[in-house]
Amino acid sequence: MGTLSQRFLGRLDKGRFWNVQVWDFSFRSLSREYAWLFFLRAVLAHPVKTVRGLRRYRRFIREKKHWDPEYARLLSIPDETIFLQHARGRKSGPLVGLGFCLKPYDPNGSSVSCPSGRANHNCLYLERGETRLVCTGCSIHEIGCLALDKGCPVYIMTSAKDIARDLMLPQISRGLFPAAVLILCPYSVQAIILPLLICGLDMLLLSYASGSCADYGQWLKADRGIKDERTTIDDDSREKLLGVLGKLEDVEVSGIRSQRYRQFRRGGNVFYPG
Ligand code: SF4
Repeated sequence: MGTLSQRFLGRLDKGRFWNVQVWDFSFRSLSREYAWLFFLRAVLAHPVKTVRGLRRYRRFIREKKHWDPEYARLLSIPDETIFLQHARGRKSGPLVGLGFCLKPYDPNGSSVSCPSGRANHNCLYLERGETRLVCTGCSIHEIGCLALDKGCPVYIMTSAKDIARDLMLPQISRGLFPAAVLILCPYSVQAIILPLLICGLDMLLLSYASGSCADYGQWLKADRGIKDERTTIDDDSREKLLGVLGKLEDVEVSGIRSQRYRQFRRGGNVFYPG
């Protein structure tokens, strides 16, 4: 895409044209498989939900206090109180999605890298409850333990196509994941709000503190599994995340939610507390 059209689309985003702030990303995605998959199996297959989601998205953009396409490090739609209220009323906790780039990784040292590999949905701890020394410093392990305690399914996010197939399409067609807590890069936050709203998800989006993709080029490489930098979550965000997940059990929970879980079982690419 030429520099002129990029600038033009950037301006549309900055000016929140038609109360939409995902022009640049959408146009860059026109020829990508993830976009077509979502368009055919979500937008065309569910026009009423699409219109409802688009309305909700435009209202969210219109009511946003600042004009920049950037968002707070912890963003909740609907607001946190309602997100928690909805989450507490459900039989299972919100899905917790963690980017694969949170895995420990050193291209030159396998002993300090994740034993389950890099750009995939696998994790020794989530799959078998096993850990290696390197897992002790891994956010996926730390947050996975907490998610298990709260009865939340866990999903290691890789490409946009897989996120559409594993999370968005099962939600829009069968209502499998009505709420999600996703930990991802600020660039992805801008892009993911609209499709999640179309699919009818309540979302809590938490941005990485460092190592994130800064633009579409870096994002596309990471989408193809090319990402050497390890992303991190800072103490402030960790505290917020623990606070929100901690509040899940403050009020009545269903019989299923009040049970204790010992391990995950894998169903497709998602790990369910079992
Ligand atoms: S906890 Fe899972 S993702 Fe993290 S290093 Fe261990 S095997 Fe890899």
